[in-house]
Amino acid sequence: MREKRRRRTKKKCKLCAMKVTYVDYKNTALLKEFMTEKGKIVPKRITGNCAKHQRMVKTAIKRARHMALLPFTKE
Ligand SMILES: [Zn+2]
Repeated sequence: MREKRRRRTKKKCKLCAMKVTYVDYKNTALLKEFMTEKGKIVPKRITGNCAKHQRMVKTAIKRARHMALLPFTKE
């Protein structure tokens, strides 16, 4: 119990809540939820994703970028 209460509401992994077992790279609507406006992947500390799902999201985003479904980081 090293996590003390914070001001923000406790975030739960959305994908766990949705019982997602596989993140499809073609599901860009979902992937975009885990990306910033600039196209960067939002860190799991912000999204509340668990490590497992964060990795799935990351992999899916990379794949989607490769397939030109999502933009690369614009900076
Ligand atoms: Zn999860």
